[in-house]
Amino acid sequence: MERYQYDKEMCDGWKSYPIRLTTDRVSKCHGQPTVLVQSMKHGFVTANCLECGNKDYLSEAEFRSLRLIVSCPKCKQLMVPKLIDDNYSYCCEHCGLYIWLADLLPHWTDLAQ
Ligand SMILES: [Zn+2]
Ligand SMILES: [Zn+2]
Repeated sequence: MERYQYDKEMCDGWKSYPIRLTTDRVSKCHGQPTVLVQSMKHGFVTANCLECGNKDYLSEAEFRSLRLIVSCPKCKQLMVPKLIDDNYSYCCEHCGLYIWLADLLPHWTDLAQ
């Protein structure tokens, strides 16, 4: 399995995309929706409070129940959610590629606090 990486300009583009991904969970601190973001390092993903930015872990069960359809950048087939080296990823068995979920999300510093 090889990690598929988009070029930086492309990533910067969709990291500023105004539609955010959320989960069914509300934040413990404010009871507000949580927004999925790329956390401080690598492919780590957290669910942050929309109101104050407090971060919380995204469980593997939550990750697997996200209603996302991710298509392989190469063959366009559906990619399957998988934990690879502790990073939530989508992978294509056919092409031997995976994408970090974190690469598709805004960086935590890009959220309004
Ligand atoms: Zn909060
Ligand atoms: Zn593929």
